[in-house]
Amino acid sequence: MALQVYSTLTRKKEPFHKQPGETVTMYVCGPTVYKPSHIGHMVGPVIFDTVKRYLTYLGYKVKWIVNITDVDDKLINRAKELNTTVPALAEKMTADYFECLKALNIAVESPAGIDHFPRATQHIGGMIDVINDLIKKDIAYEVDDGVYFDVSKDDDYGKLTNRDPEQMEAGARLEPNPKKRNPGDFALWKSKPGEPEEVQFASPFKCGRGRPGWHIECTCMAIKELGETLDIHGGGLDLQFPHHENELAQSESWTGKAFARVWMHNGLLQLRDKDGKPTKMAGSEGNVLNVATATQHVSGEVLRFFVLKSHYRTPIDLGIWDWKNPSTPIPNGLVEAAESVQSFYRFFERYERVRGESFYTLPARMSERWAPAADLAKGWPYADLAKAMPDLWKRFHEYMEDDFNTGGAVGVLYELVSLLNKFADKSGLETGERNMENVLSFGRGVAALREMCSVLGLFLEPPAKKEIGGGNELVSGLMQLLLDLRGNLRGIAKEAAKDNPLKKPLFDQTDLIRKRLGELGVTLEDRATGTTWRVG
Ligand SMILES: [Zn+2]
Repeated sequence: MALQVYSTLTRKKEPFHKQPGETVTMYVCGPTVYKPSHIGHMVGPVIFDTVKRYLTYLGYKVKWIVNITDVDDKLINRAKELNTTVPALAEKMTADYFECLKALNIAVESPAGIDHFPRATQHIGGMIDVINDLIKKDIAYEVDDGVYFDVSKDDDYGKLTNRDPEQMEAGARLEPNPKKRNPGDFALWKSKPGEPEEVQFASPFKCGRGRPGWHIECTCMAIKELGETLDIHGGGLDLQFPHHENELAQSESWTGKAFARVWMHNGLLQLRDKDGKPTKMAGSEGNVLNVATATQHVSGEVLRFFVLKSHYRTPIDLGIWDWKNPSTPIPNGLVEAAESVQSFYRFFERYERVRGESFYTLPARMSERWAPAADLAKGWPYADLAKAMPDLWKRFHEYMEDDFNTGGAVGVLYELVSLLNKFADKSGLETGERNMENVLSFGRGVAALREMCSVLGLFLEPPAKKEIGGGNELVSGLMQLLLDLRGNLRGIAKEAAKDNPLKKPLFDQTDLIRKRLGELGVTLEDRATGTTWRVG
């Protein structure tokens, strides 16, 4: 099976064909940087980062651009509220956005992730050129407060979202203006004399100084950075109309060429209140979960895992959240994702005990490919493992080839871990009777797991100590102190002669420490090599 991608434009899955040339070009609409990023802002970046990873894995070179809208009504209003300037606010919030991306394993300004983030204010000249051309072609027209795009001049306007004219009026309500030729016309340039100097740019238009409309920013930056036709244009479902419809109309009217070969739209987060009723995140409700807040409770890895365990075109369910209750600081969907991630960490610890090396040092890609099952079976002492591995491997790829079904692919990760755990149990890999051939087979299975995880951008680096300890350096230090003291007690108890009246009370004390820690949610595991601890 070859890669199939669902395109919003054709409303079906199509075989993925890039344009001639060596690089796949991908443009995804980025944030308006006026507030700190909330977790909804991370859904698109995680999805498209995984799209890039999979395409790269298939051998493509991918150039991925995400724009930053650093001039906009919301920014102007927010800067005023905060008594700061628009550029200062934009810079601060862009830095916050980058930190959030990095926390979710998305490389910033890097060929390994998002290659570049053009800022709208750095492309004003290019936007003016596009608008001028559209005016010359009589597709755009000037009025005293701006320049508008004439939707009646674009024969196939509305083709992306397939809306009837009545629904398109919704766009008109966003930009009411009696001087518009058609209610659905939208602004390419706006002149608002009362606005701060820093958001007013010189223009050759009759209306004079002003700023670009939101849609023209993307048209200009996408084409400037990636060329007239993009291989993939992505964004959230909420951007389909009017933003993407208008981007498409402007771009194709300007270049006369298809703007994007594939339009991909990711589903949005869904939340339920404490009674299970669907609700929206809203500042007025106090239930907007910023990434910075969420990562005080769960790691960025957990957030990424949470996004990837659904199919990207479906709504992503955060589950129930009683946000007014301080004992439930995050929605239960994230709590569940954190538990799942812990089960992977426990497996990686097991691998380290068996092989004496860290999971994270394994190569992101196996050096040898999978042989047919029959050949494999010869080299694999444990028949079930040998039989199951090629099938798991095949299904992982089938899911990814089927419109990047990461939910299915994550399901394969679970199955693989479960299979490897059973194999390790049955072959006594953590006991003295283990045989080296089994250890090697186990290692090969884990190498496959590492490769699959890398494709999804998961478990790339060891978790920070606080993620496995649930606390910080002080907590880790105190836990180690407690374990050392408990170890000393055990040592003394073991050494004590059988009839020593202190022997039992000493052992009781070590059991009491385990019990009390258990009540706090900390589990101790005594092994020949020492005692380890984990939360949960
Ligand atoms: Zn856009």
